[in-house]
Formats: sequence, structure tokens, C-alpha cells
Amino acid sequence: MHTIKLRTNKRAEFLDITSQVEEKVREVAKGICLVFCPHTTAGLTINENADPDVQKDILAHLEKMVPEQGRFRHAEGNSDAHIKSSLLGFSLQIIIDQGKLVLGTWQGVYFCEFDGPRSRNVFIKIIADK
Ligand code: ZN
Repeated sequence: MHTIKLRTNKRAEFLDITSQVEEKVREVAKGICLVFCPHTTAGLTINENADPDVQKDILAHLEKMVPEQGRFRHAEGNSDAHIKSSLLGFSLQIIIDQGKLVLGTWQGVYFCEFDGPRSRNVFIKIIADK
């Protein structure tokens, strides 16, 4: 297993981790890369990496759907972040071919912070074809 260590800088932001994930699969001819987020107030997604406004729109609309200030029971004050984390999900599976992630032309792998700034980890497990 590999770990990618991240430092987020805002309460909510997307970090493009595509190259960091790709670095871990460089020696793998074919297989599957599992990307796992071990946090309850962050998530992972694959989405457009060409226009940075797409990430801003996703963040802005998640905030509209689940505002930070709301009527929540959880006393820690970050219920919106827990909900956004569950909406996006905690893991991704990506096909590996010739040491590269098989992604669409406009796709990038994103770590999605919802309760930063914090130090975060992403776990990578590679299942190589025999
Ligand atoms: Zn909490």
C-alpha cells in the first residue's frame, strides 16, 4: 500500500492528485488502482481538469445543497462536511495500462476537502494483473 500525504489550504477545495496517483502506478503494466480516502469530512472524485471553473461550480453548488450553517445535531460543527464527504464518496477504482491511469481526455483525480485546512492522507492499493 502507498500513502499520499496532502496539506489542504482552505475549508473547502479540490486538489488535483492525478500525477501523484500516476507516480504510484508507473511500474505496473496492467491492473487496477484503488484510491481510498480515510477521512469522514473529505472525499474523492474524478472530474474535468481542463476548466478550473468546473471545480469551483461543484464546490459552490455542494455548498448551496448543504450549507455550512444549518440545523445539525452533530456538535462538532462540521456536519455539512460529513454530508458532502458521503455525497462524493471515499474511493475510486481506476484501470492501469502500461504504467498509466486510464482516464478520459478531460478527467483528473481530485481530493475533495470539506473541513480544512488539514493534513490528509490518501491510500493507494494496486492490484496488478498476473
Ligand atoms: Zn464531525
